Amino acid sequence: MPDSNVPQGNADQEQPAPAQDQPTAERPGELGAERQDFLREIVLQDLASGRISEVVTRFPPEPNGYLHIGHAKSICLNFGIARQFGGRCNLRMDDTNPTKEDVEYVDSITTDVKWLIEGWADHCLGLKPVGGLPETRQVGGREDFYLPPVTPGESRGRALEPFYASDYFEPLYRYALLLIRRGKAFVCDHTAEEVDQMRGAPDRAGEESHYRNRSVEESLDLFERMRAGEFPDGARTLRAKIDMDAPNVWLRDPVLYRIRHASHHHTGNAWCIYPMYDFAHGLSDYIEGITHSICTLEFEVHRPLYEWILEVLDLPRAHPRQREFARLNVTYTIMSKRRLLRLVQEGLVRGWDDPRMPTISGMRRRGYPAEAIRAFCDRIGVAKRENMVELGLLEHFVRDDLNRRTPRAMAVLRPLRVVIENYPEGQVEKMETINNPEDAAMGTRRVPFSRVVYIEQDDFREVPPPKYHRLSPGVEVRLRSAYLITCTGVVKDPETGEVVEVRATYDPATRGGDTPDGRKVKATIHWVSAAHAVDAEVRLYDTLFAVENPDDVPEGQDFIQTLNPDSLEILRGCMLEPSLGEATPGARYQFERLGYFCADAEDSRPGAPAFNRTVTLKDAWARIEKKQGRGSEAAE
Ligand code: ATP
Ligand code: MG
Repeated sequence: MPDSNVPQGNADQEQPAPAQDQPTAERPGELGAERQDFLREIVLQDLASGRISEVVTRFPPEPNGYLHIGHAKSICLNFGIARQFGGRCNLRMDDTNPTKEDVEYVDSITTDVKWLIEGWADHCLGLKPVGGLPETRQVGGREDFYLPPVTPGESRGRALEPFYASDYFEPLYRYALLLIRRGKAFVCDHTAEEVDQMRGAPDRAGEESHYRNRSVEESLDLFERMRAGEFPDGARTLRAKIDMDAPNVWLRDPVLYRIRHASHHHTGNAWCIYPMYDFAHGLSDYIEGITHSICTLEFEVHRPLYEWILEVLDLPRAHPRQREFARLNVTYTIMSKRRLLRLVQEGLVRGWDDPRMPTISGMRRRGYPAEAIRAFCDRIGVAKRENMVELGLLEHFVRDDLNRRTPRAMAVLRPLRVVIENYPEGQVEKMETINNPEDAAMGTRRVPFSRVVYIEQDDFREVPPPKYHRLSPGVEVRLRSAYLITCTGVVKDPETGEVVEVRATYDPATRGGDTPDGRKVKATIHWVSAAHAVDAEVRLYDTLFAVENPDDVPEGQDFIQTLNPDSLEILRGCMLEPSLGEATPGARYQFERLGYFCADAEDSRPGAPAFNRTVTLKDAWARIEKKQGRGSEAAE
């Protein structure tokens, strides 16, 4: 990664999001329409000045890993801008590095992007016809390569696919030849170590390559032979001829092409020279007609090189404008794909889509709605200052979304049998209960009640501690939507002394949970009828890492050591109300008093459900916010 500490002049001023732009309870993630930030300001100016007539942004991941919550920020930003200004956002595989990339990643990236923008910005998704390559045209007497986006709505039946930087290897090669012909690039025979050495440092001048003044003819010949495969890896490079004394070291005759005899997931064995990111990126943007190339801050120091390439080639159409914003960092989370890959490869998680992973696929499997992720990204906004966002804020948006959309259900995770002695054997009543107190339209359902029910072990104490108001001997509580019951005694395991069963009586006059005499009980607990319960596996998740900043480990320590040993707890023999038995994989519920849960997309089967806890009910963020007074600073 380039060094982002080299200071560069920049006129873009960060603008805090205006307070009225905060997500509203009705439509989180549906904002964007009136968003304002320094990037949108630039887009507006470019439209107003006539520099551009339509907006095309892009999201350009390298297919060397799965997308994560940091990418989600970039997706929401780039698609959000396209959406706001009636433009398009291209999905491009930035696949110039043959050795680390894979079609598995291409597929997962495409799926994840579509999932995240569905119903919000899918009409802005810029793709190209399958197999489509840039068209060569003459513009103003100059050769020009162009591959504009097609949205799904414009496809007219053609199958579409993402853009691939590797589809531009031929145009890029032609551009490289043009640079050589213009005396702006040369073939260099120094080794990689020598090139590094000779580059110097911001405060130390660089040393010119011994091959810098090679004739154009010789460089052309050597570059063509590099392409033809005559030389081994590392033997030669193509370098730009800019300025070895430039204060910005990225302008010190940077390498544009390297030899790599490696097969590529998209181009196979067609190439043995591969363009460097800095050369490929700006030109890929240009070929697709990108108007605004929005990057993370570390690319700010590369911008002069990006612009140099476009200018020296004297490209005939409007040049893309690169601007930078700060990466997203989230507490208890890592974003490095290299590190996430290690977790997968070393079996420390169940895969890229493990519900503890900060990946989009992991969050989806855990039950996070796309709308909640978008609402979170909208709330954090964009700025030019690096910061760390609380994981609790993301969870807050997930909870807020699920609270409105999920039906309630009763599930007992650690069951304790309760026998209601005065309830007739064999009798079953269907108790009516509401599906969502936040949304009457979600209706009611009927839950079977019978003589033996399960309650949570936690909802009973034989010897209650002070202020414990749930069930204990002699105490009356409400079983949600059913009856009031009073504990009359316990049955213990003769060997361990552990309470294995609670005995109770019910008051038949309290059906539905109301007391005709107006007497109060202090607790309402959830329950499941033993005869009707569905046995299930439930997975509880905690943060994957035990420390706030797992990237910040002391010298000599590995981030792996900061993993949270209790990040996953698997509970078996959980007792669910019968309606949950047929839950479709991916279906989400609020389990009363416990949290939000989602039927696992891989492992849950009708009749044998497996649930993931998406998030608990406890909103730590809401409390923090109350304490701090609500404001966008609170997110930082
Ligand atoms: P790597 O970890 O391999 O260096 P990367 O995280 O930069 O790569 P890319 O695949 O290059 O991953 O990212 C695609 C896009 O997502 C880029 O435009 C990048 O700026 C953006 N992006 C990546 N990480 C974050 C993040 N944490 N916050 C915001 N945007 C991000
Ligand atoms: Mg990158």
